[in-house]
Amino acid sequence: MNALHTSVHHSAVFDHPEMGEHENIVFVQDKDTGLSAIIAVHDTTLGPALGGCRVWPYKNPADALTDALRLSRGMTYKNSLAGLDLGGGKAVIMADPRKEKSIELMESFGRHVERLSGTYITAEDVGVSPNDMDAVARHTDHVRGTSATGLGDPSPYTALGVFEGIKASAKHVFGSHDLDGKTISVQGLGHVGFDVARQLHDAGANLIVSDIHAPAVLQAIEEFRAIAVDPAEAHKVVADIFVPCALGAGLNARTIPQIQARIVAGAANNQLQTPADGAALKKRGILYAPDYAINAGGVISIALATPGDNDALVREKTQAIGDTLAAIYQRADREEITPERVADTMAEERLARSRRV
Ligand code: NAD
Repeated sequence: MNALHTSVHHSAVFDHPEMGEHENIVFVQDKDTGLSAIIAVHDTTLGPALGGCRVWPYKNPADALTDALRLSRGMTYKNSLAGLDLGGGKAVIMADPRKEKSIELMESFGRHVERLSGTYITAEDVGVSPNDMDAVARHTDHVRGTSATGLGDPSPYTALGVFEGIKASAKHVFGSHDLDGKTISVQGLGHVGFDVARQLHDAGANLIVSDIHAPAVLQAIEEFRAIAVDPAEAHKVVADIFVPCALGAGLNARTIPQIQARIVAGAANNQLQTPADGAALKKRGILYAPDYAINAGGVISIALATPGDNDALVREKTQAIGDTLAAIYQRADREEITPERVADTMAEERLARSRRV
């Protein structure tokens, strides 16, 4: 019948290496609309599981399951560390967002979210637009990021959190939040990176910028008097701080020995290729801001946004990312472990405290 049954048999699901402690995994099919999706609820200790819905042309259902399990677990940690009263979940729809996504398909997905009775709250992720979320919202209230609710694009909040995180990192390494005169290399000038670059420029930093998209680079040169380098050079340049805002896995065995900066603090997801790369940064005396801690502004805005444009609470919680990072760094120094290990531990401790009460 369908590929799900042929390639993901029973033991492959329960023995899956990413299975962890997931509470609930739902396999969804709707032949009428062509929907094939997996909704993974990892942990609802702190509240309903919030996590985006990704539409992606997975090669097979096993890859989709791996992604859903891994990403939902990541959301539990991210939401916990961000101080949100929300658990972690994620949905993946197996479809090419450009060719196979339809309003009917998203509506069908919305009906399946509704069946979970609010244990899972969906939102936008890769391959999904506010328009799609409006279709979902016709069938469930357990959705964020529609055009009628929320604050719109989360990127400005992500950028705000990253800026606060850079200042907290500077304080830890250089003894001051002040970025005036610091040289900062920003890799990736997209929704988040460009906004971060603007804030750094306003704070008096000298910028080195890079992107594979030339118009963004030209704009940064013009607006911020930035110096442009090839994207492959971004981590190598002589700078105080390296700010990765492009794609993940940029910190690896090849790049880490070449980094000149004392701090790596940027928005990109999954920056460390392997856990050993975090240890390698620490060994070189480079302070690393755990990615899911510093880039939580977007999820905070999605989680806490209410209709209307009052974003004071969202900004307050996002600015607290700086305090969270300061606490992470102090503990990492005290316990002589990496900041990302401390971040995981702090997220787990909050869950454990909540389970006890
Ligand atoms: P975006 O797609 O708007 O921007 C990415 C930019 O990186 C683009 O300008 C692209 O041209 C550039 N780029 C791609 N490959 C590159 C390379 N090899 N070298 C240099 N530049 C390259 O994405 P975004 O929303 O700004 O997100 C940036 C990163 O932050 C991503 O890793 C994303 O997962 C993460 N993130 C974003 C948010 C958010 O709210 N948007 C939240 C959390 C994490």
